[in-house]
Formats: sequence, structure tokens, C-alpha cells
Amino acid sequence: MFPHGKSVYNGGMPTPTDSTAQLIADINRLREERHAVILAHNYQDPEVQDIADYVGDSLELSIKSANLPEPEVIVFCGVDFMAETAKLLAPEKLVLIPDPEAGCPMADMVTPEALRQLKAEHPVAPVVCYVNSSAAVKAECDITCTSANAVQVVNSLQADEVIFVPDQCLGAWVQRHISTRMILWPGFCPTHNLILPDHIRSQRLAHPQAEVMVHPECTAAVIDLADHVVSTGGMVRVARESAAQEFIVATEEGMLHRLRKENPEKGFYHVAPVAMCPNMKKNTLEKILWSLQDLHYAVEVPAEVADRARRAIQRMISVS
Ligand code: SF4
Repeated sequence: MFPHGKSVYNGGMPTPTDSTAQLIADINRLREERHAVILAHNYQDPEVQDIADYVGDSLELSIKSANLPEPEVIVFCGVDFMAETAKLLAPEKLVLIPDPEAGCPMADMVTPEALRQLKAEHPVAPVVCYVNSSAAVKAECDITCTSANAVQVVNSLQADEVIFVPDQCLGAWVQRHISTRMILWPGFCPTHNLILPDHIRSQRLAHPQAEVMVHPECTAAVIDLADHVVSTGGMVRVARESAAQEFIVATEEGMLHRLRKENPEKGFYHVAPVAMCPNMKKNTLEKILWSLQDLHYAVEVPAEVADRARRAIQRMISVS
């Protein structure tokens, strides 16, 4: 355990008298002593976002990790593939994830072995891989993409057909904008798939002046009801730039905290309580503190995977 003065913590378990204020004070002290930064994804709980040095989408945070000159330690509050991407782009830094069980069911829907089989069936089709995937899957791909740049990335390949993994909803959304034939992997985000067209319709009835922002991981039927189909970064931009004063937000609930914080004069309505990702909620203030205390859980990517996965990410960055 890292020695940290008068902290009430002892081996990682909080005592019943611990308060949130004490937790935050302990985290702040350790962050300084460890020369650490805390990064939080837009879907994290509000208290995790509020204690973070930077809040953003997975790629923004990974690029931030690579470009931060000072910190020796990065605590990445998100799910495992995000922390892996940060490690790929900042290999010399110690990247920690507070809860190693915070995974992504959509990323787990494709394996390197299964993808190699599909590649063998379509030997000339380049492979585009959504960043929501493991490093081992990224290593099998030609280029990665985000929900913000997927159309641009696929177009950059100038191919007749591409294999797109793992999110079939994002892939189908991209297909609407391009003539390249998309061979879609049948993966999906379980959280965004719980959002139904009726959720949008009932929210529109309740808030008739509101504009509807939908994440492209939602189903086509939900996307069809949107005013804006945008990534989480796109939602931040639309909320800031639109003349609308109210928004219905069809993505994971954590996004609402950032939107409300940055636009206190505007109204934001979550599409439905069911759109909550349990994996994103596994990181807590307690786990962040323990992560800083004990320097766990370190993210490692085997070198032979890391080199190929990094190449796919860097290729995306160069075309975006
Ligand atoms: S919201 Fe969906 S894509 Fe994001 S971590 Fe959760 S399951 Fe994965």
C-alpha cells in the first residue's frame, strides 16, 4: 500500500465513517503525490466525471493520454478497451483502470479468431474496426474508426467493400452515407439497443420543443426519429451550438451530466432510464482511490499485438 499520511484508508476498504469529501481529499492528495491524471469517459457517474482532470470520449481521452507530458500515472475511468487504447498510444506511461471487470459486451462480441475467418472469406476487403474493440481485434484490422469519423474513414479506403466490426448499428448508419458495400459483423451495444422508438415518441410528446440527439449505436428505427445522429463529442457540440433550448438525449445516461454542466441554461431529458451501461458504472471514487494507492490495475498489451493495433489507430488519426 502506498503510504499517504493521515488517510483513514487501511488496505483498501473504507471505514463506515468515510465521507465523499474525505474520499475526494484523499484522491487529490494521492493524485499529486503520484503525478497522476484521472481521465473519465462521458458515461461515467457524475462524481467520477467531477473529480477527473479530463472528460471526453474514448479516443479524445486516449489522444490526451499520449500528449500529456507530465503525468507518470494515468487512471482511466472507462471500460477496458478504452484503457487499452490509451496504453497503446502512451506505451511509456503507467495506465491504470480502477476496476478490471469493467468490460464492454459489444467489444467481446468479436474475437480475433472469428474475424480471421471472415477475412479469409473476403480476402480483398479491408477491415475497419470501431475503437470499441479489444487490442487483439484492432491488431487484425487495417484501420480503426470512431462513431464521429466512421464515414470519413471508410471513404478513405476507396474500396468496393469493407468488413466492419463489431457494431452493426454504426456500420448500417455508415452504409446510408456511402456506396462502398459494408460487410457487417452482427455485434451491438446492449445499452443502446434498449432504446426503443416509443421512448423517443413519448419524450417528444412530453417535450415538443426539444431536439432529439441519437447516438449511432442505436438501432435504425431509433435513428430514423432523430434530429441529430451524433457521437458523444457531437452531442457536446450540438448542445453548445444549436439555438434549441431543450434536447432529448438518446445515449447512455452519464452523458447528461456533462451536457447539463456545460449548458446550465438549457434543458436535457434522458431518453429512458433503461439506457444505463452497468460496466461504465463500475468505477467509483473508492476504486479510484485504491487504484492510486496500490497502483492497480495496470493495463498491459503484448508487444506483438500492440504494434499492429497501434498502426490501425494511427492510420485513423492520420485520415481524420
Ligand atoms: S455503452 Fe455499450 S459500447 Fe459503451 S461500454 Fe457499455 S456496452 Fe460497451
